[in-house]
Amino acid sequence: MKEFKNIREKLDRLEKTYRSMTDGGKTASYIPELADVNPRLFSISATSVGGESFSSGDSDTLFSMQSISKVVSLAFALERFGAERVFKKVGMEPCAEPFNSIMKLEISSNIPLNPFINSGAITVASLIAEDLGGDAIDAVLEFASLCAGRRPENKLSVNEKIRESEASTADRNWALAYFMHSTGALTHTVKDSLDLYFSMCSIEANTVDLSFIGATIANGGLSASGVRVISLDTVYILIGLMSTCGLYNGSGEFAVRVGLPAKSGVCGGILCTVPGRMGISVFSPPLDERGNSVAGVKALGALSREMKLRGL
Ligand code: GLU
Repeated sequence: MKEFKNIREKLDRLEKTYRSMTDGGKTASYIPELADVNPRLFSISATSVGGESFSSGDSDTLFSMQSISKVVSLAFALERFGAERVFKKVGMEPCAEPFNSIMKLEISSNIPLNPFINSGAITVASLIAEDLGGDAIDAVLEFASLCAGRRPENKLSVNEKIRESEASTADRNWALAYFMHSTGALTHTVKDSLDLYFSMCSIEANTVDLSFIGATIANGGLSASGVRVISLDTVYILIGLMSTCGLYNGSGEFAVRVGLPAKSGVCGGILCTVPGRMGISVFSPPLDERGNSVAGVKALGALSREMKLRGL
């Protein structure tokens, strides 16, 4: 692919420049397992819609997807239940409050603003858990693995230690879920909804996997091997929501600085899609005050400009 000319050199340069440019950012401290991650880790991967993939840095390092899994769970739910049913449970508007805020739920509307904040992702998890019961996480892992181009014998899996760490320090998510249960926004049981939500946040992947997921979205839902994994209607919804809501309450600034549909997680990862062209993922654990990877946003901004990923 012509635009992948010199890509290795570009990614190597970004790794050297941005690995330590974390501006005093901090790893997520509210989940003990995440607080202990080496803040010096850095990796960046780019995968073309045709499946050519290049990486620099610690691209073998697995990390829990955290909120990046919200892209996968939303896509899974849209494919399974259709947009009408999903958007009865969750809105499609950006949120100016932090990702785990409870405030908007009480003052503005009964349903969460969008599927990429915790309350919205919990309602999406609840739909899936209600439908699939104990099989839900395996079905989501299967789907995520297909999107990531993993072989059947090498599927993505849940890191149980992180899952437990997360479940034991999740007062805020329990509060959100109980609140939504009390208003009728969440109809399935709080426990089963959150069990699935925590498992999905704890799915482990590396930047190579996430760049393949980005490439599948960029390719209109076809995986690199040409298999339809996501419908085009779902892809349009993902692109719309990633563009407007993907970086929590930092989505506006990211749109200005990077200008690409993306989703971040408190793991320090970011999954990015360049429609028609490629998927990109970056990982650097130190976060800014909104929960986005400091070096990750900078590196993506530089790559977006250098490769004219906005088309200009
Ligand atoms: N598991 C995290 C939580 O629910 C996900 C948050 C995130 O990555 O934004 O708190």
